[in-house]
Amino acid sequence: MDNKNITVTSPLLPDRAEFDLMLKEIWDSKWITNNGQFHKRLEAALCEYLKVPFISLFTNGTLPLLTALQALRITGEVITTPYSFVATTHSIWWNGCKPVFVDIEESTCGIDPEKIEAAITPHTTAIMPVHCYGKPVNMEAIQAIADKYGLKVIYDAAHAFGVEINGKSVLEAGDMATLSFHATKVYNTLEGGALVVHDEQTKKRIDYLKNFGFAGETEVVAPGINSKMDEVRAAYGLLNLKQVDEAIEKRHQVAIRYREALRNVKGVRFFDDMPGVRHNYSYFPIFINAEEYGMTRDELYFKMKEQGVLGRRYFYPLISTFSTYRGLPSAAPENLPVATRIANEVICLPMHHVLSKEDVDRILELIVK
Ligand SMILES: *Cc1c(COP(=O)(O)O)cnc(C)c1O
Repeated sequence: MDNKNITVTSPLLPDRAEFDLMLKEIWDSKWITNNGQFHKRLEAALCEYLKVPFISLFTNGTLPLLTALQALRITGEVITTPYSFVATTHSIWWNGCKPVFVDIEESTCGIDPEKIEAAITPHTTAIMPVHCYGKPVNMEAIQAIADKYGLKVIYDAAHAFGVEINGKSVLEAGDMATLSFHATKVYNTLEGGALVVHDEQTKKRIDYLKNFGFAGETEVVAPGINSKMDEVRAAYGLLNLKQVDEAIEKRHQVAIRYREALRNVKGVRFFDDMPGVRHNYSYFPIFINAEEYGMTRDELYFKMKEQGVLGRRYFYPLISTFSTYRGLPSAAPENLPVATRIANEVICLPMHHVLSKEDVDRILELIVK
C-alpha cells in the first residue's frame, strides 16, 4: 500500500511552459503591477466566466471583505455566521464594527434566515452571510429581511466560485460579493481575491479604495488600502481559468464516488446536489453522528490522520469561540446550537482534481464499516 499522505486539497497549477511565455511578456513590458495588461485581461475573463458585469481583483480574499464594508460605509453591528473561516468576522472587526453571530441551518451550513430578525437592533447596518462549501444560502429570504430593515448585504462567496442557480451566478445577489483565489480554493491565483459589484461607478470606487484611495495622479478620496493584484498572479490566473472547468468536473466525479459509498453508512450525513444548482465541489464535508456511527468525529478524524488521510475539521472551532469574539453576547453556545453541534460533527474529506481512484478507495476504506 502507498503510505503517502493524502492531503485535503491540492492546488490547481498552470502549465509551466505556458506560464514562462507569459512571464517573458511581463518582463519585456516592464509593467509588473498597477492595473497592467494581464490584470485587465483577467478582470474581463472572469466577468465572462462568472457571468457578472463588474469585478475588481485583489491581492487576497480577505481585503475585498474589508473594502466592501468600507465602501458601503457600514457601521455599528453586522450580522454574520460563526461557521466560516475566521476572515469573515475579522473583516467586521477591522472596520470597527461589532459582529453579531446568528446560528446556521443544518441543510446548508449557512446563516439561518429565520433567526436573523431576532438579532437586528437599531445599530444593525448589514448582514454578511457565507455560501459555506459553495452551497448557496437562501438569498431571497435574506434580501427580504435586508429590504424590510434597510440593511446592506455583503456575501462572503469565497467558496462559491462559478456557483450558479438556474444559470444565474450567486455572485449577483446582495450589494456586493467577495471571492478568494487562495491556493486552497477551487480556482487560485497563488493568493488572490475579488470583489463583485453591480455598477461601473461602484467598480471605480473600489478600484480607488484598493489603491490607497487614489482617484487620479494627485487626488486621494478615502483612506484606502493597498490590495492590488500584480501582473504575475493575473497571468497565472488567466491560465488557470482555462482548466478550472475540467478540475471542477474531476471533483464532481470524486463527489459521486464518495456519495455512492457513504449513502448507506449509518451515522454519516453528507450533502447531495441541490436542484438547478451548478456546484463547484469545493469541499466534501461529512457529518458524524457519534451515537449512530459508533465513533466520534474526532476518533474518526485522528484514525484517518494516523493512516495518512488528512481531512480537515472545517469549521471547527467556531469563530465565536476565539478569544477576540467569545465575550460577545451573541457568541454564547446557547445562541448557536446548530453551529455548535455541526462544528463537532464535521470532517471535510480530501477533495481536489488529482485524487486518484486508489486514493478515494483508501479514504473510503477508513470510513465505511
Ligand atoms: C479562504 C476564505 C477567506 C479568505 O480568503 P484569503 O484569500 O485566504 O484571504 C474568506 N472567507 C472564507 C469563507 C474563506 O474560505
